[in-house]
Amino acid sequence: MAEALPAPTDLLNYVYDPCCPLPTGKEARSHVISKGACQPKDHNFPANKRNRRFQVSWYEKFDWLEYSKSLDKAFCFYCRVFNTQVSSKSDQAFIKVGFGNWKKSEVLTKHQKSDCHKQSLQAYRY
Ligand SMILES: [Zn+2]
Repeated sequence: MAEALPAPTDLLNYVYDPCCPLPTGKEARSHVISKGACQPKDHNFPANKRNRRFQVSWYEKFDWLEYSKSLDKAFCFYCRVFNTQVSSKSDQAFIKVGFGNWKKSEVLTKHQKSDCHKQSLQAYRY
């Protein structure tokens, strides 16, 4: 008997959290992408040891910014979805690891200006 193919990802059970990989099915994948960046607002963002936390106002400044409730980390929607070519450590943070140094929010601005981000944005638009 041939091995059964893995069942398509069931979107009913799909957790909208940037730390979860995108579903592999084409339809499910484009559905998740159409939802855009994951930006939870009604969340009690935990403070770190230095009493700094994720700021909801950052969403207004950065439409690509995503927040993972399960990791308490930020991600970049465009880079996470469209950029498989990770070029530097800082990009890696926004794609796979998650960014959590709330003290250095200027890193968000820096990421927005990065080549990695520009490439991802282009891939998203075309
Ligand atoms: Zn980006």
